[in-house]
Order: sequence, then C-alpha cells, then structure tokens
Amino acid sequence: MAFFISTVHNKTLYFYTFTNIHKDLALMPLSKIKVIAFDADDTLWVNETLFRQAEREFCVLMQDYLPEEKCNALLFEIEMKNLPLYGYGIKPFTLSLIEAAIKFSKGNIPVSTIETLIGRAKKMLDAPIELLDGIEQTLEVLSQKYRLVMATKGDLLDQERKLIKSGLEPYFHHIEIVSDKTEKQYQRLVNHLDIQAEEFLMVGNSVKSDILPVLAIGGHGFHVPFHTTWAHETVKEPVNHVNFRLLSSAIEMLNLL
Ligand SMILES: [Mg+2]
Repeated sequence: MAFFISTVHNKTLYFYTFTNIHKDLALMPLSKIKVIAFDADDTLWVNETLFRQAEREFCVLMQDYLPEEKCNALLFEIEMKNLPLYGYGIKPFTLSLIEAAIKFSKGNIPVSTIETLIGRAKKMLDAPIELLDGIEQTLEVLSQKYRLVMATKGDLLDQERKLIKSGLEPYFHHIEIVSDKTEKQYQRLVNHLDIQAEEFLMVGNSVKSDILPVLAIGGHGFHVPFHTTWAHETVKEPVNHVNFRLLSSAIEMLNLL
C-alpha cells in the first residue's frame, strides 16, 4: 500500500445541473475494467454534512456582526482565496473560519470565540465515521473481482484516520491521497497501476473532481451524487459521454459489473 501527495491545484469554478443528460447514448461496455477507484468523502462516508453544519454554527456565532446569508457568501470567498495555499480539509477550513471571524468583527472577535472554533474543529476531526448505505457490501463483492483503489484529496493524516476508523481499509489494494484531483493526477495513478485508462473506473460524488478528469484521460466514471455538494465542487457542463453513468447509489454497481 502506498501514499502519494501532490501539489497541483485546479482553481476553476463551475456550476452544474443534471437536466441535459442524454439517456439514449450508446454506452461503452464495462468488460475491460480492471481497477475501480472510489472517492472517499461523501462516496464511502458522510463528510460534507459536517462542514455545512459547522458553517451554519459559525454564521450563528457571527450574527452580531453580519447576517447569515452574507456570512456564508463571504466565508466561501475566503475559503476559495485560501484553497491554493492551504488545500482541502478540516484544518484549512478552521483557519479560514478564524480569518473570517477576525475580518467580520473588524478585529473585535473575543478569544473565547476563537477557542470555540478550535474546539469544534477538534470535534470534527474526531467525529465518528458514518458509512453510506450499501457501501461495505458493494466493496466486499467488487473486491473479489477487481482491484479496488481509494482515491481522495485532502489532508493526508485526516483521510488516513478516517479510512482506518471506517473499517474499509482491507477492501483496498491501493490508497491514493492527492492534494487535488486533476487529469495529470489520474494519469499518474493509471500509470502507477500499470493499466490503460480504459481499464480504469472512478466512482464518486463530485462530477468536477471524480468524473470529468477521468473521462478526459479515457477512463470510465460513475457519478453517485450525495445530497449535499460544496459549491466549489459543482459544475455547469452536463455529462454526456459514452464512458459515464449516473447511479443513485453505489450498490447499483453490482448490477453493472
Ligand atoms: Mg467526495
């Protein structure tokens, strides 16, 4: 098992709707697939919900300084500005919250509020793992037939900790933790796995990170949407591709593979 980190960042923002997916497209068969890679956050386990809840709580804490809607929008701006420097994860998120609190309060934020934010970050880091429905059964069945990979971006220590706590580690042949998911990173992964791109299938909840770059290098993508998607991860272009499938849950894969 190997761990890889990269420093490539894609700063483009997109907005996405499902409305124009062509259902009559002749899809490529899946018989060549050798390796199936799974995204982790909101594909294997619940994640985004924790961040949305933390943002809501933060904007309640900030209500003496600015209204909730404005707080959300300005916080997102600060997070986007910091993303190239900090990367993804709870620790970068908390630094952005602290920066926002200082800015919104014009430097008057009490130290006790900063302590509250740090305390909540520690709670988030230590939160129990909530697996998504059917994911363990899906991995168990597929791991008997395919090489499975976990491919995630974010904080190395945090993602490793979540994987161990999830109990899913034994199903994976290889773990890939990158700072961002780009075509270059997926091509590196495919090369490392010693397969062709057409033998690679990526499964994930983010069209932008898990699907589009994989389709672009000639791989297959299964999009399994999670009910909450971070604005940064949403894209505008509808996915209309012979190597793409939209599933309502990971367990549907067992009917296709
Ligand atoms: Mg995800």
